[in-house]
Amino acid sequence: MTAYSISNRRPSVGVRVGAITIGGNHPVVVQSMTNTDTADAAGTAKQVQQLAAAGSELVRITVNTEEAAAAVPRIRDMLDAVGCRVPLIGDFHYNGHQLLTKYPACAEALGKYRINPGNVGFGRKRDSQFATMIEAAIRYGKPVRIGVNWGSLDPALVVTMMDENAKLPNPRSAAEVTREALIQSALISAAKAEEIGLARDRIVLSCKVSGVQDLIAVYAELASRCDYALHLGLTEAGMGSKGIVASTASMGILLQQGIGDTVRVSLTPEPNGDRTKEVVVAQEILQTMGIRSFTPLVTACPGCGRTTSTVFQELAEDIQAYVRTQMPIWRETYPGVEDMTLAVMGCVVNGPGESKHANIGISLPGTGEAPSAPVFVDGEKYTTLRGEHIAEEFKALLNDYVVSHYGSARTPAGTTSDAG
Ligand code: SF4
Repeated sequence: MTAYSISNRRPSVGVRVGAITIGGNHPVVVQSMTNTDTADAAGTAKQVQQLAAAGSELVRITVNTEEAAAAVPRIRDMLDAVGCRVPLIGDFHYNGHQLLTKYPACAEALGKYRINPGNVGFGRKRDSQFATMIEAAIRYGKPVRIGVNWGSLDPALVVTMMDENAKLPNPRSAAEVTREALIQSALISAAKAEEIGLARDRIVLSCKVSGVQDLIAVYAELASRCDYALHLGLTEAGMGSKGIVASTASMGILLQQGIGDTVRVSLTPEPNGDRTKEVVVAQEILQTMGIRSFTPLVTACPGCGRTTSTVFQELAEDIQAYVRTQMPIWRETYPGVEDMTLAVMGCVVNGPGESKHANIGISLPGTGEAPSAPVFVDGEKYTTLRGEHIAEEFKALLNDYVVSHYGSARTPAGTTSDAG
């Protein structure tokens, strides 16, 4: 598939986080968050490494206690020791001003700080504690995400805005006022951070909500009122298909409008589920929209009464899993392989046609069809596979294709004779 360029990408001020730049017309960045106890340095480093290997370009970790803050530099060291350079983002609530002051090694080891303006303190302490965190960011040369969340919106700001709204001749709905309060909280906090001395190219904003329509409305408005880089995500998206669908629906519409410089998909994992799924989903949102390529995607038909066996479903799953496991190596050795397309189809109805559209595709036999599986390479019939070992033989052809088309010493395709 040809990479699709979102022509109306919203201009934003680029923010450097380690070797990554968020915004400023740089590719949309995928990030994720651990769910380990950060005080468990080894466990957290292991999960960060897994998320980074899956393709997360930034990884956020909670820094909620003194033990967690003390563990951060050790986590950084463990990652560096295995060559994992992914920047760590510290997620602070309530006590970030204390932790960033008392644990300078933590402040130094983090690549970015996330500050929630609704959780930095109350009353007079609020401003001074916010200022302490911003001053730490300035001192250590770190960018900050001012991350407002629907579930922890500054209550004083909401009350003030609700009171003012009630006095209007035509008051707005409570939902509209709350959405405006989210945006105001982010913009007022960003202005304060700049007043304290944090540069504009050190500030990322987010205004996360859990409703699809609310997220679209809030970000469309926020994007129209500032040029800060925007972190996009539907908070508390939920489990399984609901979380994926809600994230995709909301973020897809905004990304199509050119809004969003970095994305995180906030999926609730299944019990003992794989945390890296949120990275895969974020990548697939971007890649299926043609915004960025990360890994070759497998086109597979849904199957129907023409294919009553599970062979092609298993093959499709097997091939997609194989490609993902190969990607950490392929990404380094075969640049451009992420744009490769594959097709695994269930019968002759759409199988050959869809296979021809892919770089490499296989069409398995449907019920009643001859037990042979034609393979197409770059739109041409290349070979036919039969028998018990179709999966392994197709993977071998796939490997040959990758080496010949994306390796530095490329060999011409189509040099193998029809095995059928
Ligand atoms: S390609 Fe064949 S098996 Fe797959 S959905 Fe279409 S008709 Fe059914």
